[in-house]
Amino acid sequence: MSLIITRFAPSPTGYLHLGHAFSALFCAEKGERFLLRIEDIDQGRCRPDYIEAIYEDLAWLGLSWETPVRVQSEHMKDYAQALNKLDDMGLLYPCFCTRKEIQAEIERAGHAPHGPDGVLYPGTCKNLSVQHRSNLIAQGKSFALRLDMDKAITHAGPLTWFDHDKGEQQATPEVFGDVVLARKDTPTSYHISVCVDDHIQGINLITRGQDLFHATHIHRLLQDLLKLDVPEYHHHGLMVGEDGKRFAKRDKSLTLRSLRESGACVEDVLERLR
Ligand code: GLU
Repeated sequence: MSLIITRFAPSPTGYLHLGHAFSALFCAEKGERFLLRIEDIDQGRCRPDYIEAIYEDLAWLGLSWETPVRVQSEHMKDYAQALNKLDDMGLLYPCFCTRKEIQAEIERAGHAPHGPDGVLYPGTCKNLSVQHRSNLIAQGKSFALRLDMDKAITHAGPLTWFDHDKGEQQATPEVFGDVVLARKDTPTSYHISVCVDDHIQGINLITRGQDLFHATHIHRLLQDLLKLDVPEYHHHGLMVGEDGKRFAKRDKSLTLRSLRESGACVEDVLERLR
C-alpha cells in the first residue's frame, strides 16, 4: 500500500483566512505525507509577501510540510508541454474573443446555455479557417486556448472519479463547454497547472473545498487525455461566518494574521474551526 500523499495549494493573492486554515489542517490530517504548493500563475494578482505570509501562517498553525515547495510560476515549461500534447491531438483552438464579443454573440444567439461556471462559450472561434487564424495571429491579436470539448470527450469516452465523501462520480466535463486551458494573460490555466502538478508531485488524495467539486470533472478528463495518474478526492464543506456567508479573502478581520495581531492564540483559532 502506498502512502497517502496530500497537498495544500493556496494562491498567494491575499492573506490566509479561517477557511484556509480549516482546509490546510484537513489536508494535513488526511495525508501521511503532506505537501505544499504555491499556485501563483496569476502573476498580476499574486505577491511575494503573500507567499512569505503563507509559510508563516501555516507554521503558526503548527503545520509542517515537505520541501521543496512547488511554486507554479517556476514550472511554466511543464504546462506548455501538456498544452502542446493536447494541441498535437487536435483538441485545442485559439480563441480571440474579448468578453464583450462573447457577450454580444450570446445576445445575438438569443439563448445562453449555462454551466457551473456561468454562460457557456458560444463557439465563435471554433470554426475559423486556418488562414483566418494565422492572419489574426500575424496581426498580433492575443488569444486564449480553448479545449474542443466535443472532440475531447469523444476521445476519452466515459470516465469516473472517486470522492471520499460522495462516492463514485460519473465525470460530466461537457457541462462546462469549451473551457479555456491557456489564458490570454498567462500561458496556462488553473485546470492545466493543477492536473500536471498533482501528477508530478505524486498526489494520490486531493483534498479541497466543495467550491472546486465541479472542476474535478474537467480534471478527470485532462488526466485521461494527458495520461496522468488518477488521484482520489475528498471535497470538504466550506466554513461560513456568522452571516452564513463563506469566508473570502475580502474578510480582512478573519485572516490568520489579523486574528493573531488582535491577540488570538492558535488554540483560539483551532476552537473556531471545530
Ligand atoms: N489554488 C486553489 C485555491 O486557492 C486551490 C486549488 C486546488 O486545491 O485544486 O483556491
